[in-house]
Amino acid sequence: MEYQYLFGPVRSRRLGRSLGIDLVPGNICSLNCVYCECGTTIHITRKRGEYASLSRIQQELDHYLRIKRDIDYITLGGTGEPTLHSGISAILEYLRKHHPEYKRAVLTNSTLLHDPAIRDEIKTADLILPSLDAVSDDIFQTINRPPSGITAETMVDGLIALRKEFKGKIWLEIFFIPGVNTTDEELHLLRDAAVRINPDVIHINSLSRPGAETWVTTLTDDEKKAIQSFFIEQFKNTQII
Ligand code: SF4
Repeated sequence: MEYQYLFGPVRSRRLGRSLGIDLVPGNICSLNCVYCECGTTIHITRKRGEYASLSRIQQELDHYLRIKRDIDYITLGGTGEPTLHSGISAILEYLRKHHPEYKRAVLTNSTLLHDPAIRDEIKTADLILPSLDAVSDDIFQTINRPPSGITAETMVDGLIALRKEFKGKIWLEIFFIPGVNTTDEELHLLRDAAVRINPDVIHINSLSRPGAETWVTTLTDDEKKAIQSFFIEQFKNTQII
């Protein structure tokens, strides 16, 4: 069978051997991040829909998992924002019922998490990996280039609510661009937001492959270590990686 929506398993830095499901093929996203490895977002939207056929995803999963596979996670992600897929809860439920031996992870850019219905739809995952790259509006605009109506403040509120409601693990990712969200002021704002979100793990990340914009640069090892130390000061039980 030729897979249209499944990819991998890929060796992921955070997830080990991860079988991906692309729920939003064709760069459909609610953000247009300057560091995006998929390039410039083709279709920026907050509108949800069945961007990938639900029945086809189920068929591909059944076919691929007809024999026991050595994978750590089945990851709902892709080349855009997976919570834009209106069937995300159906896919998680399908996996739980038909392939319960595999752990389920959801990647999200956090833009829709202020909506209680969407938080409810992803609650059966084992692990949620949300992103937050800025708290100040101007830096959020510079890095994530959202459509109107999406603000960093609503994302932080959504993440705090998710933490209160979700029983699984939350691994927060913060993507740093030197000179943009690495100022003292923004680092304090991000750390304060992270304390309020209270994730299980914080991943400090920066560019490793070419992004959508050529001006985006990566953290040096020393810069990364300094940011990790800055975060560690405020956390006892959260792992900072
Ligand atoms: S949220 Fe993810 S997929 Fe969407 S533009 Fe940003 S990096 Fe790319």
